[in-house]
Amino acid sequence: MSDCLFCKIAAGEIPAKVAYQDAQMVVFHDIAPAAEVHLLAIPRAHLASLDEATPEHDALLAHMLRQLPRLAREHGLDSGFRTIINTGKGGGQEVFHLHMHLLGGTKLPGFKCTD
Ligand code: AMP
Ligand code: ZN
Repeated sequence: MSDCLFCKIAAGEIPAKVAYQDAQMVVFHDIAPAAEVHLLAIPRAHLASLDEATPEHDALLAHMLRQLPRLAREHGLDSGFRTIINTGKGGGQEVFHLHMHLLGGTKLPGFKCTD
């Protein structure tokens, strides 16, 4: 999707502080961190939200989730981390390219309020 911010980040067209990337996904630091560590994991292929995921995405989603504990450890989160996936306007989603928030450290926020 040509006007998608996270597709542009995945393609390297918009700069981001990349923490990890492979053939299927890119992980980068959130531009407005809500915690001491705040990473976003996105698939390279455009997928608007978890609501658009089909069985074809099962392996991709599992692969993405499986990277998070290692990334958390690499960022010093030895005692654990929080994973959030906002889905749709009602879920507080603002960027409509699926992303997994990885949050941890001091200032760990609660859940986002939408009203
Ligand atoms: P969500 O509300 O779940 O859609 O989260 C979108 C997230 O993307 C927010 O935490 C934003 O701070 C973050 N964000 C928006 N633009 C950028 C960007 N250019 N680089 C990194 N993170 C961004
Ligand atoms: Zn996209």
